Parts: sequence; C-alpha cells; structure tokens
Amino acid sequence: MGIGIKLFAFLTWLAILYAIGIALFTRGFLLNRLEISRSSDCETDSVPFPSVRFLSSGSAHKSEGLTDNQNHCVQHQRFSKAIILVIDALRHDFAVFNESLRASKSLPFQNKLVTIRKLLREKPHHSLLYKFIADPPTTTLQRLKGLTTGSLPTFVDASSNFAGSEIVEDNVISQLYKLGKRITFMGDDTWETLFKDKFIRSFPYPSFNVKDLHTVDNGVISHLMPEISRNDWTVLIGHFLGVDHCGHRFGPYHSAMANKLTQMDDVIRGVIEDMDKDTILFVFGDHGMTPTGDHGGDSADEVGAALFVYSPNQLFEEDEKIRDETKTVSQVDFVPTLSLLLGLPIPFSNLGSIIPELFTTLPKHDSITKDMERLPKEMRVLFSKVAALRSNAHQVNTYIETYSKMSNEFPHAESSKLLEVFNKAESILQNMSSLTKDSHQKVLDNLQDAEDLYKVYLSGVKDMCIRIWAQFDMMSMILGLICTGAVILFCWMLIARTQSAGDRSTLSSTLETLLLTSFCVYASFLTLSIVLILFTDELEEASVSTIVLLPAIPSALVTIAMIFLHFLDGQLGYILRTHIFRNSKESIFCGILTVANAALYTSNSYIVQESYVSTYIVQSIIIFWFICTGLSQSRTTKEALTKKTKIEKSRDIGHLITHPRTFLILFLVVFLVCVRFSTYFFACREEQYPNCEESTFLRPLASFTDEKSEYRHYRYFVSVACLAMLPASLSYWLNKQGNLNGTSASSLSITYALPAATVCVCLHWGLQSLPEKILDNIPGWEQVILARVAYGLLGISLGSLLFDPMCVYLVPKKDRLKLANSGDSSVSDDAAAPKVVERPKGMRKRNPRQPLEEAPSSDGADPPGFIPPIVYGLGTVFSSGFLQGGVTVCLLLAMLLGDGFAPAVLLLICQAMMFLELYAVIRRAHLKVLEMFPGLMQLGLLQVPWYAIAGWGFMANQYFFATGHHATVPSIRFESAFVGFYGDFPKYLYFVPALLITLNTFASQILFAVVLPLLVVWPYTRGRLFEKKKTEEDRKGEMNMHLNPDELRIAMFQLFVQYMVFHAIQVFGTMLSATIHRRHLMTWKIFAPRFVFQGASFLVVSIVLVVMYPIFIRIDMALSKWLQRLFDEV
Ligand SMILES: [Zn+2]
Ligand SMILES: [Zn+2]
Repeated sequence: MGIGIKLFAFLTWLAILYAIGIALFTRGFLLNRLEISRSSDCETDSVPFPSVRFLSSGSAHKSEGLTDNQNHCVQHQRFSKAIILVIDALRHDFAVFNESLRASKSLPFQNKLVTIRKLLREKPHHSLLYKFIADPPTTTLQRLKGLTTGSLPTFVDASSNFAGSEIVEDNVISQLYKLGKRITFMGDDTWETLFKDKFIRSFPYPSFNVKDLHTVDNGVISHLMPEISRNDWTVLIGHFLGVDHCGHRFGPYHSAMANKLTQMDDVIRGVIEDMDKDTILFVFGDHGMTPTGDHGGDSADEVGAALFVYSPNQLFEEDEKIRDETKTVSQVDFVPTLSLLLGLPIPFSNLGSIIPELFTTLPKHDSITKDMERLPKEMRVLFSKVAALRSNAHQVNTYIETYSKMSNEFPHAESSKLLEVFNKAESILQNMSSLTKDSHQKVLDNLQDAEDLYKVYLSGVKDMCIRIWAQFDMMSMILGLICTGAVILFCWMLIARTQSAGDRSTLSSTLETLLLTSFCVYASFLTLSIVLILFTDELEEASVSTIVLLPAIPSALVTIAMIFLHFLDGQLGYILRTHIFRNSKESIFCGILTVANAALYTSNSYIVQESYVSTYIVQSIIIFWFICTGLSQSRTTKEALTKKTKIEKSRDIGHLITHPRTFLILFLVVFLVCVRFSTYFFACREEQYPNCEESTFLRPLASFTDEKSEYRHYRYFVSVACLAMLPASLSYWLNKQGNLNGTSASSLSITYALPAATVCVCLHWGLQSLPEKILDNIPGWEQVILARVAYGLLGISLGSLLFDPMCVYLVPKKDRLKLANSGDSSVSDDAAAPKVVERPKGMRKRNPRQPLEEAPSSDGADPPGFIPPIVYGLGTVFSSGFLQGGVTVCLLLAMLLGDGFAPAVLLLICQAMMFLELYAVIRRAHLKVLEMFPGLMQLGLLQVPWYAIAGWGFMANQYFFATGHHATVPSIRFESAFVGFYGDFPKYLYFVPALLITLNTFASQILFAVVLPLLVVWPYTRGRLFEKKKTEEDRKGEMNMHLNPDELRIAMFQLFVQYMVFHAIQVFGTMLSATIHRRHLMTWKIFAPRFVFQGASFLVVSIVLVVMYPIFIRIDMALSKWLQRLFDEV
C-alpha cells in the first residue's frame, strides 16, 4: 500500500470522525421532526358518533343524524363564527383579577383587564379563563405555528417542498380556506408570511420595531370594529403587539404597561358589545414574559400565557366547579377545540386535545340535537364530550401511525402501550352499543371510563412527542462537542508530528497503526452494540443513529491516547514545543484570529454583522503580512541594490516602476480593492435593516421593468464580460507557461470546451432575462437546453482532467536540435520557455520512491551528441491541472449563482490570485535562510504555514457573504434548483435540487477548497520578486515537487488536514455558542442557523477535500508515468 493511499484513507477517516461529531451534536440540538404535508378532510378522516343504541332510543343501531359517508366534522359544531384576538405576550397573571388588592396597591400589570373579571362573575356559563401553556421556544413565529397546526415546534423541517417560510403542515387557516370559509386578518405581519393569500381582507403591520408600541395596535383597532360589523367572515383574527413591545422596551413593571393593558381592556369590551350570538371569542397571549419583559425561553413566566373564552351563547353546561382560573390548557389544545367548534376537520398533525367542557352544550346540527335532547342531561353532557374526544383521538392516532411509517423515532414499548389504551377506549364504546337508555348508571360509568382513557391516550401521546422532539438532548450535545474537540486536538498533534523533521521512515507505519486502531475501536464498539441488541434486551430502545454515532467517541479518544503513548519518550513535548515556537509572527497572529473568530460566535451582534467583519479580518491579515515581511524584504533588497549600483538613482521613474516593492504594493492594492468591491454583493439579513441596502445584483435581470432596460443591458454586458474573463485568462496564462502546445485531452478542453461552456452560460442568462410573458411561451426544453449543454461541457472538462491531466508538450527530436542550438539561456530563463528535462539517464534508474539525495547522481556522463528532451509546460504541470479544475468549477458555480454574481466570482478569482502572489513572495522570503541549500529549500516550500491556510479559510468565509448569502434560512437561494431543469422533478431526481442549492449556497467554500492545492504549488513558480538570479532548482519549477513523491503526498495531506482543522474550529465555536445560548431568545433566529450553516459548510468542504486528494495523486502519478515513458524513449 503506497503512502498516498494510506494518507487518503486517513483523510477520509478524519472527515468521517468530524462528521460523526457534528451529527451527534445536531441530533441533540435540533428539534427535528418530519413535517407531513398531508391534510385531513371530513370525508375520510373524521369518525361518526359511536353507534350506540341509547342515543336513538330504540331499535336502530346507528344514530339517525348522519350516515356513514357524510361529513362527521359538523356533528361537533357549536358556533358558526369565531373572533380570535392575540394579545402578544399576555401573561396569565395579567388577566387574573386579584380581589384582595386595592387599586392603589396593584402593580402596573395587575387588575387592568376588568372586563374579563366582570364577565367571569356576571356570566359564569359564558366565560372561561385558563392558563395557556406554550411549548418553548416561546417566540411568536414558533407559537403561531403551534397555535394553528397543533404541532410541536421544529427547527429543521424535513419537508418535501421548498415553500419558503409558508406553513406546509395542515393547519386551521388552510382548513378554513379549503372549505371556502372567509378569514379576515389585522395585525402582526408574521401571519401574512405564514399564510399567504388565505385571507379575504388583511391589514398587516410590521412587527420588527419593538420600540414602537402603538402603530400595530392602533392599526388593528381602527379596522377591528368595522370588520366585526361587516359580518361576511367566519373567522376574524386580530394580533396586537403593544403589550409585547412594551415588555421588551420597559418591562412589565412600567406604567406604560398599565396603559397598554387598559387599552386592551377597552378593545375586549368593545368587541363583546358588538358580538352576535353565534360567535365565540378567544383572547389569548402567544406566550408570557420574564420579569424583564423578554421571552423565548421556557421559564414559567414565559410559558404561562392567558386564554379567555367568551360567547353570548352558553359555553358549557357543567357545574361551577370547572370554573377554576388556574386550570391549565396547552396552546396546541386550541387547534382541535377551534376546529371542532366550527365544524372543521382537525388538522392532520395536531397533537393537542380538545378542551372538553366546551363540548357539553347541544351541537348545532339539527338531527343530532334531536337525538341528544332525548337523553338525560348528565348522560348527554358526558356523551358529547366523549364523542368529541373520540374524534380527536382518532385524528391523533392516524397521525402517529402515518408518522411511525416514515420514521422510527417513537420508542416501540411506549407507543404500543398507548395504542392499547386507545383500543381499550374504543372497545368500551363498542361494548356499550347494546346498552339502552334504561341501564342508566352503567352507561354513565362506561362513558366516564372512555373519557378517562381518551384523555390518558391524548396526553400520553403528546408527552411522548415532547420528550422526543422538543427537548435538547444534552448528553448527545456534549458528546458531539467532545468528539469534535478531540478530533481537532488529534489533527493538531498529527500535524505537529508530521511537520517535525526527522524520522520519515516510521511515519508510514505510524499512520497505519493509528488508522487501524482508530477504525478497529470504532468497529468493535459498533459490533458490541449490535450484539447487545441482537442477543439481549439492552439498548433495544436506542435509535439507529445512536448506535452508529456513539462508537466514534472511544475511537477518537483511543487514537489520541495512542499518539500520546507513541511519543511518550519525551519526544512529544519537544515536538509540540518546537511546533509552537517555530511559528512565524504571521502564523501566531492568524492563529489568534482563528480562535477569536470562533469564540465570537457566542455574540449575536457579531453573527449579524459577520459579513462586514469577514472583510475586515481578511484585510487585517494581508496588511499584517505586508508589514511583517513585505516591507522588511523590500528594504533589504533596496539596500542591496543601492550598494551595488550606486549610479542608479531612486528617483529614476523606470527603476521605481520595475522595483519589486512596487509590484508588492500593486498586489496589495488590487487585493484590497477586490475586498472592497466584494461588499457590493452582500445581501441583507433581517436584523441589519434599516442600515442595509440590498444589492441590486441579487435581483434577477428579468425582474427589472422596461423603463430600466438600459440598466439591464448594461448589467448583462458586464456579467458576460466578467464571466468571459475566466476561461480567457486561464488559456492566456497557460499558453504563456507553454501548457497548451500539446494535444492532451485536458489542453483541448481548456481551449475548446471551457469557452464553449462560457458561451452557453451567457446565452442561458440572456434567455432567462427575457420578460416572463415571452419566456412562458418558450417550450420547457428550450429554456433548459443551454444550461444542460453547459453542464455537459463542464463535465467533459472535469473528465479530461481525470483522464489525461498532463498539459505538456514534448518537442520532437528535429525541432529539439534547433532549440538547443539557439542557446540554453533563452530556453530556461523565461517561464514561458520550454523546460529542459535534465539528466534523464540518472532519473531513469532512480526509484521514484527513493528520496532525492539517495538517487544515483551525476555519475553517468551523457553520451556524446545527446540532446536532452525539451518539454513545454513542465514547470507548471501541477498548477495547470488545479487551475483547469478551478475554472471549470468556477463556471459551474457562476451559472448557479446567476448573472448578477459573475463580477463577484471574478473578484473572488482575482483576490485569490493576489493572495497567492503575495503568499509566494512572503513564503520565499521566509525561507531565504535556506538559500544555500537548494534541496532543503524545495522541501521547505512544500510546507504551507498556518497564516496562509487561515487567510484562505477567511476568504472562503468572506465570499460566502459576497455571493449573496447569509447564515439564515430566508437567504437560501432556492431558485438555483431550477437551473437546467424545468417543472417538477421525477422521484429519482429529488437529490438534484438539493445538490444544486447546496452548490449555490456553499459556492465560495467549494471553490476555495478545490484550488487549495495551489497554496503548495504556487511558490515553486512564482514569488521571485526579490531573487535576482534563478538557481538551477528554480528552473525546474513545479518539477521540484515531484522529485520526492512521498514528501509531496505528506505535505498535501498536512495542508488538507489543516484546512479541515480551520473549518472545524469554526464549527466548534458555533456549536459551543449554540449550547451556551440554547435558551436564548435569539437561538432559533441567529445561533442555531449559524451552527447549521457552519456545519453544512464544513461537511461540503471536507467532501471536496476528500475528492481532491485522489485527483492530486492522479496528476502526480500521471506525471510519473509520463516521465518514465519519456526516459524509456530517450
Ligand atoms: Zn409573541
Ligand atoms: Zn416579543
């Protein structure tokens, strides 16, 4: 097994270990649950009344009211209309009236809602007050979802479509809409985004400005009374934000709160006066607030909102005893209650249970009422409660069954126990079908049993789901953190070990041992858990993911222990010490920046403004480099120059222009300009408004109207020009290096396939920018054909890179003579000139595995008349491959990003090139001490220091933002799923949209990972600003890398591992901040998305790196083979 394969295996295993760490954390952190987009309907999903004899008072087994295939939802209907007033953050104790307090003694939020007290006292059978318990997170958006779908909150929805932030699960609003009922809405505009186009009239007001206490409320109030009197609606929703905003701004103990609540009291009184008989009113808070007025977490104050129900019609028929104001109902209970009260099917994924006392009066449906009226009151009340509970339980049961088919999250033992309860209740009802009205007590007992069982079932299911979905699994989170942290540490030690000079001979076997041990430990723990499951009852409840993920932790820990043991003989300390102290100023600076950036992910404002910070970091790094190395270098050179050539004056303009420092400054300035311009492509995230203006580059061309057509043409032209620059400059550069003289597959595809692909992409953009009316008349296949051709051509380019990566040209013998006679100096001094392959005889005998020093050197003299082979492009044989790969990926990503971002992609490439140039200069300057030992110098160049890696990583982060992205869900650019595809995807192609969106989102990270090997390659051919004469070694350019294949493979491995470590440190930072802030108000808006994006970006980067490593080995091996063939020929 070659060392290349071993290193590749090791790299893959490291990537897997990281992925396992992240997966462990994610499993514990994200409340994930499948969102089923199915919706209930009355015909198939509702159950008829239990068929009991006593109801129909005689012979028939079924109730006469409704037959089997009729709408069974309406049998519970009590009201035809509902008014829902959401008073945001209305805490329970705001609504409860404390009689013992005198007016002067009450706190600002106490005893202000006097209307509620009055109604509870004067109309006890028409009003109810509950404590309304919210499921955390107590943020308005999550709460509105819960209050309409009846489901528990989620963060990542594994739903099957990409419908923005609109609710995809079945909910009350869409049920109303589906049945043709009319909803009118006023207030918090969150409703508008959740339920697009579902309202007949809607008066949304912006909810973002918490400093504004009145705009929303006054808007709602001004529309509320006129709307109530219009009477053409079934449901009226008003959402007030004043109380919530008052809490955020002043807290509940401020007099402003008293005014707000008094205002709300007036609203409630007004509504009650205007309500008609057939209407039910719900007034509730979506959550409470802490003593400081905030919310989002799960403290009792935040979770305990108030719910007040009132109707001019009688609400319930039971005794006074249920009128307990501290009685609690869950917020999800609102959903089935409202649904059945209005005669709607209960939304499909509801987990709430009805509020039973609201189903004790006679239903509206005539035939049912007729049947029910005949029953004695006690039996009637109990029976109608049981009937409603039964409908509810059936819906929940259907949902749980459907869900279990799609996922095995529910523990088997518990869910089957619950099913038993459900079946028992059903069988009780079935058994009493023969009982008549006469066996009074028996009927009552049975009904009571059934009611209790249904209640037990419903609350049991909900408890099970809460436990599984809505809680952080701290154990899993901590294990994830430990695993990721351990692997970072492990990588660092590994790098320190491989970078320390010395025993290369043992390295290969060491790696092998580490890899094998780590893998064996993982495998043995995995087997152990599988054996435990198969042969014992242990671990039966554990999910598949636990079993696969957990063994990684001992594996990582054992590997670290192995490294420690391996170097226990005192070497380890020495290695780590030298590794730290040997680092340059630049590396220490960048190391501090890396850790600081990761640590600052604990700050929400840092994350919000991260796009700007990223440019700042990149600029700082490059300026720090320049100050540390660039300036000092140019000074010494200048001194040297003035000493040698005293005649030359510094004022000489020609000298100034060609002075190395001028170039260095030029690179720096271009770099900084690129950074500056990249900010024009930033998108805005919600929190950045109003200080942020969305870039017009983000809008598709087609969205600009005709009067702006000049801008359209102008922008299109700029985009095309920018995109064309990519393949043009690639082929210019490689031509200059002599890479394109040959006819290898890759040089042909650089010459033909890439420009053709560019033309296709540009034409595709042109086609897409047509106005929608014209575009709709073009058949689907014509709209996508250009993009598909571009995919094909880019695929050919990538294929050619794998198939035939050698972009070199061997000069035929007869021309070789001519070139050789024309003089060596011109041949080898210029990079564009062909490279002479020296000493072919010696190299032919050399074992490629042998290090350079041991190779049989210049013993055999060349035979007389021998002309060494002359090859074009050999000096850039590696970079040509990576550049070709880079530009190919670049074109693909540019197409997915859309025309507006073509300039950004060009800026990215330009900035990266400047970075490489500066890096090459600085790297060579650092290694100047080795000038006397060319062999060591070449080996030294292989090592990429941390400052370059961190700079590269930070640039990837900068261009994540500069390609119009943010770490938020709304900023995902879903439109890229349809580049080259039209209409719906067939089932087997479902991965395509996900893939395209991933490519678009992480375009920058992918691109920087693809061209990462250039960090090793670049200093070999470039960066000689301060070196006056070329050494023998320099003439060979990148051929020097090939002289020691093992070292090259190790160096590339180190580079990849360090780049992974850079990203892993950032992921670790976001994980840590998500753990610390898991109860923070902004968790779901800021910290959780930041973690998800960072984790996903890390996974994408490591996949790219794992793919790139074998590609690099392939290029190196192709070179070996090519050289071997050449020498055999000579
Ligand atoms: Zn709220
Ligand atoms: Zn709030």
